[in-house]
Amino acid sequence: MSGSDGHPVGLLVIGGGIAGLWTLDAAVRAGWNAVLVEAFELGRGQSVAAQGIIHGGLKYTLRERDLEAAGAIAEMPAFWRERHESEGETGPDLRRARMSAPCTWMWRTDTLSSRLGMLGAKAALRTRPHAVEEDERPALLRSAPGTVLRVAEPVFDTRSVLETLARAHGRRIVGVDGIEGIEFSSAGGRVERVILRSGDFEVAIRPAAVALAAGTGNEGLRARLGLDPEAGQRRPLHMALVRSRSLPEFHGHCVDGNRTRVTITSARDDRDRVVWQLGGDLAERGVGRDDAAQRRAAAEELRAVLPTLGFDGMEDLEWSSYRVDRAERRTRAGLRPDDAEVVSLHGGRLVTAWPTKWALAPRLAASVLAATRDAVESSGFPTIADAVPAALDGLRRPRVAPYPWEERSWTKHRDVVSAEPV
Ligand SMILES: Cc1cc2nc3c(=O)[nH]c(=O)nc-3n(C[C@H](O)[C@H](O)[C@H](O)COP(=O)(O)OP(=O)(O)OC[C@H]3O[C@@H](n4cnc5c(N)ncnc54)[C@H](O)[C@@H]3O)c2cc1C
Repeated sequence: MSGSDGHPVGLLVIGGGIAGLWTLDAAVRAGWNAVLVEAFELGRGQSVAAQGIIHGGLKYTLRERDLEAAGAIAEMPAFWRERHESEGETGPDLRRARMSAPCTWMWRTDTLSSRLGMLGAKAALRTRPHAVEEDERPALLRSAPGTVLRVAEPVFDTRSVLETLARAHGRRIVGVDGIEGIEFSSAGGRVERVILRSGDFEVAIRPAAVALAAGTGNEGLRARLGLDPEAGQRRPLHMALVRSRSLPEFHGHCVDGNRTRVTITSARDDRDRVVWQLGGDLAERGVGRDDAAQRRAAAEELRAVLPTLGFDGMEDLEWSSYRVDRAERRTRAGLRPDDAEVVSLHGGRLVTAWPTKWALAPRLAASVLAATRDAVESSGFPTIADAVPAALDGLRRPRVAPYPWEERSWTKHRDVVSAEPV
């Protein structure tokens, strides 16, 4: 082992999803000597699975109790768009990341609750979405009943964002062998030294501050540090997937009353099939269904919300689904927190971070830096001008995790619809 006392590092970020990577970028921009350690693959868990929508709060105006949250997130679409268009002065340079769509669509099905929901969405908004004429709508929504809204919420391809951030910070991002690859010397959550292991190699570092940004992994990390693992909560989803070369690329929400019935986002796989991810209520309610039932429910739901889609001509149509937990700071009623959340201990020497939403990663990073600034800047540890400790080069370089649909089994459409009704 090199540097048995530990190589001094300003901020050690643990976990390389959107939260950890954005925080690393912000710390380096602030002139700190920061390092990120990942136990598996970057973004495994929530970030590669995210639908990548940069919400501006429209969805939250559907429920009165969510109006606070709309305030926190309102600036995010413009902020992310700017990051995609300009050099990284006020944040990471995302010009090489892929924006899958500049906007999303919002429509309703023809039920009374659906009509009311759409009205509520329009009335409560600060930045009003744009209602479009029939000939401006995407073909899928030509005959949708009532208003169709174009919402200026861009959608980003999640892997391309994570890859762009990771590429920008090469040697500062290191991998260890699973959760056992990180060993803490700590007392009451105050971390003195961390040993990082990959293969036969190990290295000790001495961080001025540590940020836990490991999604669901924060629970285990906190438990190992002797802290309350219950500071976090999980909200499970059972996401559905459908793919075909004949599907159009489409991004939008179908609203029913104050619910988002289904949220659709699209990606293209390496065989030129378009893959739709189906979230929203379909995924929340789907938690209680097994895979076959969720695939069938998804097929029925798409027929109901997009009657013009018509699956009949799509010979290669296939369905899949996967489970994933959203990790957030615990709230009293188990609801989604309104903003990115940070819990700080020992004057910012240890923070636990949950972005709540992918879109809120910039706000999370700002909060982590504010919480840890004193600890890092008063440590007297080397700043960015001093290179990353060369000893870290012996650790592995983690890659970005694959999309969830690359790892799932798929069922042919005819087998899905011939299964028992849900
Ligand atoms: C299906 C789905 C769709 C979503 N869609 C949207 C959306 O459209 N828009 C939006 O704004 N938000 C969306 N979200 C929410 C968003 O994805 C999350 O808020 C965000 O990605 C959380 O990022 P994170 O970096 O905190 O956690 P994660 O992405 O879970 O990353 C955690 C990282 O830590 C690593 N790790 C885990 N344990 C350890 C450990 N012990 N040591 C070291 N590393 C560890 C993991 O491998 C991973 O790299 C969605 C969430 C889901 C699940």
